[in-house]
Amino acid sequence: MQDYVIRAMDDEGNIRVFVAKTTNLVNNARNIHNTTPTASAALGRTLTAVTIMGTMLKNERETVSLQLKGAGPLGTVLAVANSKGEVKGYVSNPSVDLPLKNNGKLDVGGAVGQNGKVTVIRDYGLKEPYIGQSDIVTGEIAEDLANYYVYSEQQPSAVALGVLVDRDTSIKAAGGYIIQVLPEATDEALDKLEANLANIEPVSSLIEKGYTPEDILLNVCNGFKMDIKDKTSVKLTCDCSVERMQKALIAIGREELNKIIEEDGEAELVCHFCNEKYKFNRDELVSLLNESDLK
Ligand code: ZN
Repeated sequence: MQDYVIRAMDDEGNIRVFVAKTTNLVNNARNIHNTTPTASAALGRTLTAVTIMGTMLKNERETVSLQLKGAGPLGTVLAVANSKGEVKGYVSNPSVDLPLKNNGKLDVGGAVGQNGKVTVIRDYGLKEPYIGQSDIVTGEIAEDLANYYVYSEQQPSAVALGVLVDRDTSIKAAGGYIIQVLPEATDEALDKLEANLANIEPVSSLIEKGYTPEDILLNVCNGFKMDIKDKTSVKLTCDCSVERMQKALIAIGREELNKIIEEDGEAELVCHFCNEKYKFNRDELVSLLNESDLK
């Protein structure tokens, strides 16, 4: 089954709900980055969240990035999405693995660590980007994002993100949902939503059982009359290119570039997101240096 995100609203304007299935996308990320189960869960939850956040963007040229930088051994977890459902991400230390927690679950909170920041950047392409930040609460990512929405964007939200790793370390199921409580929401509606959320199974188990995002929506929003507004196909893909890498080389400055030419005579750049390697020989580096002279 293809990965996609649905966006829905109830007929009384209480809640807006986004539900995603991201199993293929997260499994592709695992294959690219060769992540351990704990790192797969951390990266997969972050990818799932940003995939949903991408579908919230209004402008086609906008991108959104979600970064968690905690004090744990994973280092930085970063994922980026656009409104067209194109998503990419990486984790600084993909080989970090921790023992399971006492409840048998992967210790994502321990791997991400607390004492750090959640950062959301929305880049509009032309205008200054919007940057929002809040503290990491548990490192489990869903709680951290819900906390971010309340404190940084004054948008009360419920967030669930789940990644189920198979015995062979491939991804068995991944997905999530974000529920935004709208300003006109009634107390009655909130009570109903709370009762639904208290009873619902973890989102990764629902996806493993074959539930579609539409099925999950029905469960989460039991008792609400939901209207599905749109459905976006999503996939893991990278937009790196030779031109971008050239720009990155020029951006390090004349002095550094000169040093590389003199000391190494070549340069190899690796894209963090997809691990694609870009090689530049001496002649190419010299012409980049000359190009940077003109600016
Ligand atoms: Zn790339």
